[in-house]
Amino acid sequence: GLRVLEALAASGLRSIRFAREVPGLGAIVASDCSPRAAALMARNVALNGVGDLVTPRLADARMLMYQSKAEREPFDVIDLDPYGSPAPFLDAAVQAVSEGGLLCVTCTDMAVMAGNSSETCYSKYGAVSLKGKFCHEMVSAGGSPCPGGGHEGVSHVPRVPRQALRIILHSLDLRANCYQRFVVPLLSVSADFYVRVFVRVFTGQAKVKASASKQALVFHCVGCGSHHLQRLGRATSHGSGYGPTPPEGFGGLLRPFGGPQDALWGRDPACSPCRFKYSTATGPPVGPTCEFCQQRHQVGGPVWAEPLHDPAFVEGVLAALERSPGRFSTEPRLRGMLSVIAEELSDVPLYYTLDGLSSTIHSNTPSLLQLRSALLHAGFRVSLSHACRNAVKTDAPPAALWDIMRCW
Ligand SMILES: [Zn+2]
Repeated sequence: GLRVLEALAASGLRSIRFAREVPGLGAIVASDCSPRAAALMARNVALNGVGDLVTPRLADARMLMYQSKAEREPFDVIDLDPYGSPAPFLDAAVQAVSEGGLLCVTCTDMAVMAGNSSETCYSKYGAVSLKGKFCHEMVSAGGSPCPGGGHEGVSHVPRVPRQALRIILHSLDLRANCYQRFVVPLLSVSADFYVRVFVRVFTGQAKVKASASKQALVFHCVGCGSHHLQRLGRATSHGSGYGPTPPEGFGGLLRPFGGPQDALWGRDPACSPCRFKYSTATGPPVGPTCEFCQQRHQVGGPVWAEPLHDPAFVEGVLAALERSPGRFSTEPRLRGMLSVIAEELSDVPLYYTLDGLSSTIHSNTPSLLQLRSALLHAGFRVSLSHACRNAVKTDAPPAALWDIMRCW
């Protein structure tokens, strides 16, 4: 069975739920550094009759994780759900998780990640968060007030910035890279006042070379909110006859295990790293001033510029929900969020909000449907974003988007 660590377990509630609700687990270690919490956990574990599976530990989670690595007893799943920032625990977590194992990481320090103190964000996560004048309107990489609430079945998402997901993923990958490991996101969720990411961790010196090209600086215009990404490295395909090369924009993406993209491109997933060569990125992607409004750009990041989700995994979770209706009380919400995620353009990192677009050029706000069909008509791809009801993700470049908005 799988070995699970709940690193900051407090009352042990989640570990007890794992024991009672998740089949196939071999052992669960619930750790907390507070003697009171550890005592409470022991009592709760006994009360719930899960003592055969759950072992309460009074320990500093980091020491416990480093020790598990030293003793070659890694955990298959590590759950980090601290009050505030998980940053101090990431280094130990990326080492103590087994090959292909799962990290579940929650951040609740949204003020830091929303750019209220970008220096603090840098010190914790190695990325500068942005808060521009437009960060509450037209955000590409910033927060959005999302007036009117969330999608059907998805809770209202008030102030969780989209960049938060990409900042924590950047931070996890960077720390894993130190140990020749890298992360593959399965699912990244924005919810009320927190973000939670689920990533698998793999080892491979060759594949770690791809990591620079998966991260990008964000150039964000303070005038109109247009945004451009500057990748930190370039991954170029050798084109060695395995089939068509990945479409533009997917250039940095390496899937370390089989997935729909591999099938689509007809390549052998095990071989993909040897088909790429890595070089220095060139830039910047913008001039000294914005080409649309002549204002300056803020620079944020680096952020994770690859997909936030594994579509096959998301489909799998949806199918599992389908198979056992009524098993979870949160099923409608789960289904609503996962359905939007499944439809999201996974290769488009940032999104625009409708009101942001229209307020910038002082036009009426088009409906989501109108803007969607205009973009589709112009030959671009469009989707919603699970993080915000009013958001549009598109592969249209800013110039095309502004042309469409001006014709409104
Ligand atoms: Zn501009």
